[in-house]
Amino acid sequence: MESNIRVRFAPSPTGPLHIGGVRTALYNYLFAKKHNGTFVLRIEDTDQNRYVANAEKYIIDALEWCNIPFDEGPGKNEKFGPYRQSERKEIYKEYADKLIETGWAYYAFDTSEQLDAHRKGHEAEGKTFIYNWHNREKGSLVNSLVLSKEEVENKLKSGEHYVIRFKSPKDETLNMTDEIRGNINIDTNTLDDKILFKADGMPTYHLANIVDDHLMKISHVIRGEEWLPSMALHILLYKAFEWEAPKFAHLPLLLKPVGKGKLSKRDGDKLGFPVFPLQYINEESKETSRGYKEDGYFADAFINMLAFLGWNPGTEQEIFSLEELIEQFELKRVSKSGAKFNVDKTNWFQQQYMQTKSDKEITALFLPILKEKGIAVEHQEEKIQKIVALVKERAVFVADLWDLTEYFFNNPIEYDAKAIKKNWKEGTTELMNKLVTVLKSIENYTSENTEKEIKEWITNNEIGFGKIMQPLRISLVGKLAGPHLFDIIEIIGKENTIARIENAIQKNEN
Ligand code: GLU
Repeated sequence: MESNIRVRFAPSPTGPLHIGGVRTALYNYLFAKKHNGTFVLRIEDTDQNRYVANAEKYIIDALEWCNIPFDEGPGKNEKFGPYRQSERKEIYKEYADKLIETGWAYYAFDTSEQLDAHRKGHEAEGKTFIYNWHNREKGSLVNSLVLSKEEVENKLKSGEHYVIRFKSPKDETLNMTDEIRGNINIDTNTLDDKILFKADGMPTYHLANIVDDHLMKISHVIRGEEWLPSMALHILLYKAFEWEAPKFAHLPLLLKPVGKGKLSKRDGDKLGFPVFPLQYINEESKETSRGYKEDGYFADAFINMLAFLGWNPGTEQEIFSLEELIEQFELKRVSKSGAKFNVDKTNWFQQQYMQTKSDKEITALFLPILKEKGIAVEHQEEKIQKIVALVKERAVFVADLWDLTEYFFNNPIEYDAKAIKKNWKEGTTELMNKLVTVLKSIENYTSENTEKEIKEWITNNEIGFGKIMQPLRISLVGKLAGPHLFDIIEIIGKENTIARIENAIQKNEN
């Protein structure tokens, strides 16, 4: 049964979703699922100047790739819809008017030039201009707190530019609770009278956000630390509307790998790792930003890594499936201090997931790469799966498998010069010719059997293992690398093993 726990992820579609945003979405998702609740996606697109056309699609695609889909949102279960604020435009005016009626808000007619002049005047005296209790009623500012009713009506009728500002209370201490940070007290005299509604008929973030959270019955607001300074205003707005406020939880910032400063959208390009879940192509500049998906990370590894950027289970366990994360996630265990992004740790998670995925799964992902390299893969899946099993532990990404396995598919044409110099000595060619004869006589070509027979032959003839094994490895692989030699022999088979040795003899005999 669905509970009353309802959370929302409320991005502004101003560009691709940064990994900080994905983490916010993830924590909301985990919290919702843990409590049998609902995860809502709301698109906060009231700021038309910063709107980017393909951003919403990007956000939805990213959540899908991460496997943290929303339950309600644009185009899905629209119970409390619409979920795009631009489509809810008519709703907000009524609420702004209500605040005017109850005295919690007022009209302000100050032009941007006038406000600029106030700002400059303050600066010249080394002060900061704040529009609030200490100047709003002094007469230097043009608002409905100082103008007569008629004056206000005339201005509104004549279409004069106006905004609606919140009237922050004076001389109050606001006691607030954050689920992560605990009690926070704010002196309301430090707040400015934020704009709630603009003359263009659009609400600002603050008004739209509160109205929608209320109408969409949001029980918990889980969002980034950058919104902590807005919490007091939001709580006051709930008070003004006489609505019950949701609970708030502000997540720690994601910091640059060096630990100082917020991880920014630009850092990825500068520091050489993706900061976006999916690749993003800027439609105007055609600039491409890397994505975790395209860089070859598994979505579950990425999510596991992100979950740990700001939360920990309090145990040693680090590898968590999504189900385990849902089970263990608690806001109480989210840290207050910033979480440092760590590329090495990210790759460690990726490598761990590479090992836990089945050979079959990895093979399915590897096949397209092989095809691209011109390898005939039809009816070879079983064999490729065996190859994958042999080298997987050395791979971090599926794409690494090609370098680790190429020699299984293509006979070596070149041999590592250093390895040849050291291992292809006088007498090697003769020994390799003898080895070919031995190999020809072996019937049962399994790894165990060829190993047994060749080792017996080496021992019986007192040859020395290195003298055979190293040139043999060079013949098959082209260099001194790769997994257990006899496993390679089993996979490439008798004929090909012999052909490779003969080729190496021909190229390397002196
Ligand atoms: N639209 C805001 C953002 O882009 C939402 C903040 C909130 O969750 O209240 O992050």
